[in-house]
Amino acid sequence: MNFIKREQISFDFSKDQTPALTIKSGENVTFQTHDCFSGQITSEDDLITEVDFSKVNPATGPVYVEEAEPGDILKVDIHDIQVRDWGVICSIPDLGVLNERAETKTKIVSVEDSSIVQFNDEIKFDADPMVGVIGVAPAEGSIPTGLPGNHGGNIDNHVITKGSTVYLPINATGAYFGLGDVHASMGDGEISGTGIEISGEVETTISVIKGKTIPRPMVETSDSWYTVAIHEDTQSAIKISSEDMQDLLVEHWNLSPTDAYLLMSVAGDVEICQCCKPSNLDVVTRFRIPKIENMAQLIK
Ligand code: CA
Ligand code: ZN
Repeated sequence: MNFIKREQISFDFSKDQTPALTIKSGENVTFQTHDCFSGQITSEDDLITEVDFSKVNPATGPVYVEEAEPGDILKVDIHDIQVRDWGVICSIPDLGVLNERAETKTKIVSVEDSSIVQFNDEIKFDADPMVGVIGVAPAEGSIPTGLPGNHGGNIDNHVITKGSTVYLPINATGAYFGLGDVHASMGDGEISGTGIEISGEVETTISVIKGKTIPRPMVETSDSWYTVAIHEDTQSAIKISSEDMQDLLVEHWNLSPTDAYLLMSVAGDVEICQCCKPSNLDVVTRFRIPKIENMAQLIK
């Protein structure tokens, strides 16, 4: 069993990082993760305005995968996500959908057995632990782990949970895969800028699909396929994630582009992963198509 401790983190996706672990395709790896603040917030008196932002959104890793070459796909099966018994929610000045209607606040909530969130004395709901940061190195240079992009990164996509599979385009030999920023729960859009930020452990299997490529991250769940796109303009992000899905349906479901478009309009969904940022930063969207009986896998 491969286990990477949360001391082995990086703040950039880059092939210049020293690997924390080298594996062969198909191995299991468990990642122990920090919360997105690297543990800097431990009480409701710790406000986000005091956090050292050079230490946020760490990714545990990177993992070097021997078979991975540019032009292949990295397949990451998420088998389980266990989280600490408390998490942190924040409202943030100048960030988030309703920041001008909220105080700057840190709220600590308890999370029982990775499964129940106690929001306050009256309100409790089911946790749904998910991975916020998941990605690979870009072809050249480095990308901070706090940013989303075609390499993955901080895509804050709440369908990346126990039982889902993430597909990433490999840009560099070895892939240099990492993940972090687990949330006990996060809504679409993450409108305050935080989920329930929490440390945890993520059990995965990491494989390489040779000779196939995708332009951007994808996610598969038990009942759906998702294409993920990132753009500073929301409508452009929606268009790119829709185009990616249309291309897949044409290729794998033997539909004309127009019929794929029409099917997507009546059976698919535009969904928002992340829209909490100031307007000059990126929005992350996904297009969902349900798994339809007798239709082929979109990635094999
Ligand atoms: Ca995040
Ligand atoms: Zn987070």
